[in-house]
Amino acid sequence: MQSKDYTPWYVLPKRKCQLSDFDTEPPSKKLPSNSELDDHLVDMGEKLDKLQSTLHAAKTRGLLVVFQGMDTAGKDGVIRSVFTHVSPSGVRAEAFGVPTELESRHDFLWRIHAKAPARGEMVIFNRSHYEDVLVTRVRGLIDEKTCQKRYDNILHFESLLQDAGISVLKCYLHISKSEQKKRLQARLDDPRKHWKLQPSDFDDRDLWPQFTQAYEEALSATSTPESPWYVVPADSKPYRDSFVAGLIVQTLENMKLKTPKPSFDLSKVKLS
Ligand code: AMP
Ligand code: MG
Repeated sequence: MQSKDYTPWYVLPKRKCQLSDFDTEPPSKKLPSNSELDDHLVDMGEKLDKLQSTLHAAKTRGLLVVFQGMDTAGKDGVIRSVFTHVSPSGVRAEAFGVPTELESRHDFLWRIHAKAPARGEMVIFNRSHYEDVLVTRVRGLIDEKTCQKRYDNILHFESLLQDAGISVLKCYLHISKSEQKKRLQARLDDPRKHWKLQPSDFDDRDLWPQFTQAYEEALSATSTPESPWYVVPADSKPYRDSFVAGLIVQTLENMKLKTPKPSFDLSKVKLS
């Protein structure tokens, strides 16, 4: 898959996004087979490993990858598949749940900024600061005015990171309601997956239209030319993983990272 394959799948900045305009399934015409997708994922994984090494060595840039999506959209799954080939010391994954008592006494970006990458680092967010304009909005924990202010705070925060050399790659994992039903049923049917279930998964499913609307508003308000929202077709797991791996590789390649020169004269080294 070439980079041009990804371009139709982002939310155009300053445009109202409608998620129904985006497919949850892979494009049927040019759908690669599962084995082609697996090969592509391995290929991207190996590239990612090399790019991560250079990112770490150069320490000039950093990468934050944000994953958002409805319950069962595949946030955990995509992280497991895409980063299989990357050194565990090269990547840090952070998950954000309901804020603790201390976190909720701070501004909403406090816990997020503390986990943001430094130059040289690649960090993955499983949920993020976007929960603070999504679940909070749907559950009526914040009003419209606060939500608008938070969009501005988010835009400033991400622009602050970009000014510090940190790219922010935002992926919305887009599943259909019927695919979510299958995945929730699969979790109900498999005792090893029961621990993953929470009452909120079922309550939130009943609020699907409200979540869709909150996502559409948040994605429209925060998709920028520097950091657009990619809407990843996520009903097919192999396609989703391959797509995301390609996006991350493309983002790192665009950084044109260079391994630094040695800090001393290697020609003078005498190996005993
Ligand atoms: P999980 O990702 O399955 O571990 O679930 C985490 C839960 O925490 C989800 O139900 C999220 O909606 C919730 N959550 C994450 N961030 C926030 C937040 N800022 N405010 C309220 N709930 C949140
Ligand atoms: Mg969950």
